[in-house]
Amino acid sequence: MKAEDNIQATKQKYVPERTCIACRETRGKRELVRLVCSGHIVEVDSRGKQPGRGVYICPHKECWETALKNNRLEYGLRTKLSAENRQLLLEYGRCLP
Ligand SMILES: [Zn+2]
Repeated sequence: MKAEDNIQATKQKYVPERTCIACRETRGKRELVRLVCSGHIVEVDSRGKQPGRGVYICPHKECWETALKNNRLEYGLRTKLSAENRQLLLEYGRCLP
């Protein structure tokens, strides 16, 4: 019983950390926005549960622009962004602080 209690406690304290592909800062998973490549479209995974290859970016305009400008997003997702897709993501970034 005691050992099981310990495992439970460890699980609750564990916060998964992810690295922003733009600034390389490590943050808690929930502080970052996940982008997922599903099929040939890259989209914002607002619930963080979509299957597929994902990358994480800080919810800040700067990081967003860096990720899109330097093709880090494409590199991280191993995909090619279409012009429309890039535009869509850039627009999302414009709404960020
Ligand atoms: Zn960042």
